[in-house]
Amino acid sequence: MSKVTIHQEADIMVITVNNPPINAGSIEVRQGLLKAIEQLTSHAQAKAAVLIGGGNTFIAGSDMKEFSQPLAEPHLPTVIAAIESCPKPVICAIHGAALGGGFELTLGCDARIALHDAVVGLPEVTLGITPGAGGTQRLPRLVGLEKSIELICSGARIKASEALGLGIVTRVVDSELLAHALELARSMIGSKSRIRDMQTPQAEDSAVLAASQKALKAGKRRPNVQQAIDLIIHSASMPIDQALALERETFQALRFSTEAKALRHQFFAERKLFKALGDIKPLPLERIAVIGAGTMGSGIAIACLSAGYQVILLDQNPSALANGVKKIEDFYASRLKSGKLPADTVTAMLSRFGHSTEWPSIAQSDLVIEAVFEDIEVKHAVFEKIQAHASSHALLASNTSYLDIDAIAAKLTDPARVFGLHFFSPAQVMKLIEIVRCQASSPSAIATGLQLAKRLGKTPVISSNSFGFIGNRVYAAYRRQCEMMLEEGAYPEQIDRVLENYGFAMGPFAVGDMSGLDIAWGMRKSQAATRNPAHRYVNIPDTLCLAGRLGRKTGFGYYQYDALTGARSVDLSVHRMIEEASQAKGITRRTFTDAEIIQRVLLVMINEIAHLATEKVVSDVTDCDVAMVNGYGFPRWCGGPVFIAREMGMDKLSSEMDQLEKVSGPGFVKAPLAAVFE
Ligand code: NAD
Repeated sequence: MSKVTIHQEADIMVITVNNPPINAGSIEVRQGLLKAIEQLTSHAQAKAAVLIGGGNTFIAGSDMKEFSQPLAEPHLPTVIAAIESCPKPVICAIHGAALGGGFELTLGCDARIALHDAVVGLPEVTLGITPGAGGTQRLPRLVGLEKSIELICSGARIKASEALGLGIVTRVVDSELLAHALELARSMIGSKSRIRDMQTPQAEDSAVLAASQKALKAGKRRPNVQQAIDLIIHSASMPIDQALALERETFQALRFSTEAKALRHQFFAERKLFKALGDIKPLPLERIAVIGAGTMGSGIAIACLSAGYQVILLDQNPSALANGVKKIEDFYASRLKSGKLPADTVTAMLSRFGHSTEWPSIAQSDLVIEAVFEDIEVKHAVFEKIQAHASSHALLASNTSYLDIDAIAAKLTDPARVFGLHFFSPAQVMKLIEIVRCQASSPSAIATGLQLAKRLGKTPVISSNSFGFIGNRVYAAYRRQCEMMLEEGAYPEQIDRVLENYGFAMGPFAVGDMSGLDIAWGMRKSQAATRNPAHRYVNIPDTLCLAGRLGRKTGFGYYQYDALTGARSVDLSVHRMIEEASQAKGITRRTFTDAEIIQRVLLVMINEIAHLATEKVVSDVTDCDVAMVNGYGFPRWCGGPVFIAREMGMDKLSSEMDQLEKVSGPGFVKAPLAAVFE
């Protein structure tokens, strides 16, 4: 079927876009639209047109694959210009989503009517570019400069009711979208109502400045955020055709920036797993049991309740259960109080929540997620209980961070239904979820994990069952490398500052202090017996722990923390401990440049990822970029270590890695780097 079809409804031409699944605005769609508008202009009987999406959405975005190449004519601005210069009105009927170029197309029409659950928005800035087909010029004419800066720079999705309030859409209807759109089109015959003919409303300079500063801060001061703001401000003073040309020029230049490329890389990497599901069917999932009401269990329960599942929370300890239940109830009470959730939604969510200390309560569950103490014996005992009380069809998942899930599964009658669901803390907030494929896990168990992640609004990656899975393993290598730099001459605040300036949410030493230095200390102690004594081992973190400096919770760690405000500051006694550690090993301390710190961190991550790929812990290395960005604060606009490696190219990467091998010393193994290019 043609991507754009037309038919007549008496005196109105209906133009339908058919490019499933999201009606992406591809070259064929643009060609079809242009042809349809030409026909509308010359058609004797057609007095107006309704433009609508076929299937379950309007144009929900552009074909992102086209973004990496020169765009073929006609470009979207040409299509919009044709609609604007057509003497007959074109009414846009929006259902599902009108996003990016799709939304810009609607702004080129004479009126917009939307179904009540439709959304509109301009996500371009979040993809490292700016709108390129008039979004920065037409939206401000409707909603003003301040609101446009907020909406465009955040890439927010605007619900139909809000769009109506802002004057973006003319009417919102509950049903019969096409019939209402035809009625609106008939009422507009003989008139045109072009946004380009409007003036952007006057705004106070101070208000525009405040909106710009807020948007820049939220947008991490990325250059394209500033460019979007500049374009929006031009809408109030520059002739529209000149401003549209400038917008297009900016968009075209930004498309090929490394940052936009990196963001597209993440975009595709985050979505590929859902596409790869193929014919494997997930099992139906409605009731979930969460075992363990601690930090993770209560967070997982909130995530599942908020996504509409029935949840049973079980803990063997009544007071631990009561704490977990309180945490969940407090969470929803605070959402209610802050207006983030309406009362009926909170009531509905809590009505699906049950809790118990009794194992038979899990009998109806389709999935059981275990989140008890990180101790293999406890896990074995808990899985035995789960097997005895859960239905035989139920899938069984462990949230363990490091334990061997194959060993847990091996003790059960049907290991095929066991897999890992590694959530991150706080589980109701963090996007990343590692789905762990064990040796015996059935494909449908993994598919169900992916489906669950999707419904929870999480970003999944798939790992095989291996110590630390993907994220913790790469993170551990990164942290060790930073500790080496301490020993060689750097200080914690320098490394943290450099990495935070690079874009990391937090530097590794601030993170360590926040989570508690005893966690990694416990891990190191458990590995001490098997550690190769010939390998380089930095004992600075052990020295801190032995001195009782366990991080924020003890008021001291790599930094000292103000007892009242919690503010962190440099502690010179830590400098002394570090200097003594260097001296004890006979290391002459030297200064580090910012670039060197960043390079060593990126290289060590790339190397660990190459090991993970070689060991088949990951089957697609881009999963590692997804994990680092969504779980470890790696700057999204830098794409992730794999993206960076590919940009660097094999020759440069390999010679830089040789250098890293030299400075890291014994224990550092250079991985077969080709794996990150596959
Ligand atoms: P936690 O100590 O806060 O909670 C564990 C809960 O399990 C406690 O409430 C305890 O009463 C309960 N429990 C213990 N034995 C039980 C049994 N036999 N039957 C029923 N309940 C039992 O621990 P947590 O931080 O929530 O960690 C739980 C799991 O999640 C661990 O495997 C951990 O490695 C993993 N994990 C933790 C984090 C994190 O940041 N805390 C992140 C990812 C994964």
